[in-house]
Amino acid sequence: MTRGVKIQLLLARILCVPALVTRYIKAQRNKFLFQASPLTSAQRDVMSGFFPRELLDLARIVVLDGIRLKNPPFHGLLKTLGFSNLLDLSQISAITFDYVIVSHQTFTNDLLFHELVHVEQYRQLGIRRFSELYVRGFLAGGGYDGISLESNAHELGSRFEADDQDRFSVAEVVAQWIQRDKF
Ligand SMILES: [Zn+2]
Repeated sequence: MTRGVKIQLLLARILCVPALVTRYIKAQRNKFLFQASPLTSAQRDVMSGFFPRELLDLARIVVLDGIRLKNPPFHGLLKTLGFSNLLDLSQISAITFDYVIVSHQTFTNDLLFHELVHVEQYRQLGIRRFSELYVRGFLAGGGYDGISLESNAHELGSRFEADDQDRFSVAEVVAQWIQRDKF
């Protein structure tokens, strides 16, 4: 780990960035929950066997029409302090706030699967721990690619994309990653 990264990690801790992220995620979840819908029965059929029924009951989805997500208020502060390549929320395809998935585009099964892996991660880790790991991975790994929560979702997503009939338990894999301290 370079000195610069160490300083940024220290700064992030002093500024309580994971706490800010946690608060932001909860606020966004509550905000979008009003306009969100449960999965359709077609989506549930595709996803069942990969995800527990409780998760499929819990998840909510929203497709934004004509608006883009804005960056969180603490982005400006972080930029001033020298944090670069922060995730620009207006440019991403979708994001998951706890169990509410907000998308800029119509859901394909591949996109939905990826975001549901995040819902499972939130379920097992809790919002606070999820935020800590996301921030730490981002800083230590030099950006989005260093976030192991994302590598996990991409890895499982690739298996689904290769064969959507070859069912496996996402919850079990996420639990293994937690147990082996891979996040
Ligand atoms: Zn993701």
